[in-house]
Amino acid sequence: MIVLKFGGTSVGTADAIKKVGQIVLEKTGERQLTAVVSAVGGVTNKLQKAADLASQGKDKYELVLKDIEDQHLHLVRELMPIKSQSGLLSHVKILINELEEVLKSISSLMEISIRANDYVLSFGERLSSKIIYCYFQTLSENVFLIDPTTIIKCDANHGRGNVDLKKSENLASEYLKRLDTINICPGFIAGSPKKDIITLGRGGSDYTAALLANFWDADVLEIWTDVSGLMTADPRLVSASVVIPNLSYEEALELSHFGAKVIYPPSIQPALEKEIPILIKNTFASGEQGTRIIKDWEDGQTIRGISSINSIALLNLSGSGMVGIPNFSFRLFQALSHEQINVILITQASSEHSISVAIESADGKKAEKIINQTFKSEIQQHRVNPVEVEIDLSILALVGTNMRNQVGVGGQLFSALARNGISVKAIAQGSSERNISLVVASSNVRKALNTVHESFFTEEQKKVNLFVVGVGHVGKALLQQVAKQQEFLRSRYNLVLNVVAIANSKKVICDANGIDLTKWETLLEDGVTFKSKGFVSDIRTMNLRNSVFLDITGSEQIAELYLDVLKSSISVVTPNKIGATDTFSRYVDLKRAERKYKTRFLFETNVCAGLPVISTLEDLVKSGDQIHRIEAVLSGTLNFLFNTYDGIRPFAEVVRQAREEGYSEPDPRLDLSGEDVRRKILILTRESGYEMEMEQVESESFVPDESMSADSVETFFDSIEKHEGHFKQILEKAKNAQARIRYVARFENGKASTKLEFVDSEHPFYHLDGKDNIVLFFTDRYQDQPLVVKGAGAGAQVTASGIFADIMKVANAHD
Ligand code: ADP
Ligand code: ASP
Ligand code: MG
Repeated sequence: MIVLKFGGTSVGTADAIKKVGQIVLEKTGERQLTAVVSAVGGVTNKLQKAADLASQGKDKYELVLKDIEDQHLHLVRELMPIKSQSGLLSHVKILINELEEVLKSISSLMEISIRANDYVLSFGERLSSKIIYCYFQTLSENVFLIDPTTIIKCDANHGRGNVDLKKSENLASEYLKRLDTINICPGFIAGSPKKDIITLGRGGSDYTAALLANFWDADVLEIWTDVSGLMTADPRLVSASVVIPNLSYEEALELSHFGAKVIYPPSIQPALEKEIPILIKNTFASGEQGTRIIKDWEDGQTIRGISSINSIALLNLSGSGMVGIPNFSFRLFQALSHEQINVILITQASSEHSISVAIESADGKKAEKIINQTFKSEIQQHRVNPVEVEIDLSILALVGTNMRNQVGVGGQLFSALARNGISVKAIAQGSSERNISLVVASSNVRKALNTVHESFFTEEQKKVNLFVVGVGHVGKALLQQVAKQQEFLRSRYNLVLNVVAIANSKKVICDANGIDLTKWETLLEDGVTFKSKGFVSDIRTMNLRNSVFLDITGSEQIAELYLDVLKSSISVVTPNKIGATDTFSRYVDLKRAERKYKTRFLFETNVCAGLPVISTLEDLVKSGDQIHRIEAVLSGTLNFLFNTYDGIRPFAEVVRQAREEGYSEPDPRLDLSGEDVRRKILILTRESGYEMEMEQVESESFVPDESMSADSVETFFDSIEKHEGHFKQILEKAKNAQARIRYVARFENGKASTKLEFVDSEHPFYHLDGKDNIVLFFTDRYQDQPLVVKGAGAGAQVTASGIFADIMKVANAHD
């Protein structure tokens, strides 16, 4: 004998039922076969809805009933040859009439007993099995329809009957002689002591199949459903989940108990008892291997899967007097059990000052009342606080057999969650050490599942989600570089760079699945209005893991958002210097937030574009070196100007060229005033570990005041054109001294300054081409010979590649 079970979607349409027919016929040979079937997909929910409406006295149940009727009549017409339709159509109508009568009386009483509820729900399987049976008769002559209510006998616990195993097994073996080659059996329903219909709990068709497999010593129990096996996580929540080819009964039980809906937990025991292998297969991809559940499966894999249960409430009971109260836990659990409240998870602090219990949300109010009643006198004496009830929670469970032999699973789990800003409200480790379960806010459950899944199963494939604000020269170049590298990173490093949002100052586009980078410009034209604050709350709501906020603007308004962004455990990567050069206390706040929320605030491109200046400094400081002095040429633009200006082509024209080629800031005065360089040396000073404010950086301007105070970029150009003589004079002076002009930034003896200097041919700054930058670090370890970083310090492409490198750092931080 083999027992197969086909779930709701597998019998959801005529085409699906035809597939079921094929599967069954292929398996019919020497062995007998029993196919347990569910209600047509969605019908049990509709029946429950009709029952609810009727019990509220609402006529709308009639519409639901009509819908159920149409759905079944339609199936009959699609499945059956015309000449044999009428018998089945009238049978369906008889059942529907019977159902209508029940619903009518429920509606007039405006009340429903759990017994009547069970009766209403039973129609789903009764209808589907009859239709499938008749259809199978068109395929084979040897088909029989089993009535499980005469085999599986339960107590009177309606809604979820407890099966009398002995009695049922005896009845089942007597029933054997009635079976044919192919036997169809409605799942989910059984017989109660009063000989009426009882159900086995939602999802219970799996259990019917498992019981029959056990009673009839089946060779195998096959659960046919709409996914290709038991997966490492619910595929609706974790798209990266994969099928688990083999696992043990215990592991399957643990996963299903904690929410893996694909198999109903009570179905495992009957199979385990007789060591009947369970196969989980996909009706719609029958060629796939599926999952095999057997005894003692071991392959050294620590973690098998992750599952989750929603609609959880957490009861927190605390108080200093709890320690001394005798039988405290006993009284608590007795009270809950008395009210038939199912406890899903328990944690108790070792100090015994608090105990937390997770239950189903629906029981929250009842639990609160009974606990406060039970400990009434202790609460009055202030030895125990009234119970706190937290709702909208979910339980996430990590399941695997070898966990007990593996150190560090908990560490890996919690650090992955912490890096993504997911706080854990309670933790419990099953005594079998086969699972670690934790309670998180329901709003975080999808993110938590994906985070944990990525950490334990798909560490090879990691997704980093990018939110890009600012698409000027640098932003555009970055998007181009990302587009170009996406495939390489995916195939070589299994790293998926997902650009989720792109914004300019006016518009924004968003797509959690990743924006197509070949057409982002056109898409952005049709974007929605960009509002900076709203943008941050949108990012937060999307709640994606491994998120990076990229500020590629020069905007103060965007820089103001960093703290909020970091607090949501989203990393910030930016070439915008405003954040790191705000007041020292703000800089410290950002750094603190970076540490506290386990995220990154990276701004390598604030100084010398893509050159590794800040990271070098960070490595020096972290490894215990002390920075004493910094000398640097930090402005690619100024260096370009002084390298290019020859006194023949006017200075103003060279500035224009720098602007057009994208070296200078959009307003070149930021470069020429030295302000940009002041910000850079300030950042290097702070990163070296010194406290300093922007006003403390001394600076000498080399541009006439009148030009600097021009009221627009254009009038500024006019003004420097007018002052060409001034710039020529500086050039002449340098030529006479056989020196070159450099705008030098220094940090020494705790002071920072920037000014124009003439350097002779001996000086390391003399040979500095084009728009190159150079930084000399004098430290404890580099006393006489400084550590030198030198190279191209400006330009959209190099800046973009520096930003890219920071993104890669964030990606690695999430390893
Ligand atoms: P059926 O109607 O066939 O009994 P169910 O809806 O009860 O099917 O169970 C199958 C569904 O279980 C899948 O469609 C899937 O969305 C869900 N599911 C949840 N967790 C898992 C998991 N770990 N592996 C596979 N499926 C899962
Ligand atoms: N039809 C029932 C339900 O939807 C039983 C099952 O499908 O397993 O819960
Ligand atoms: Mg099911």
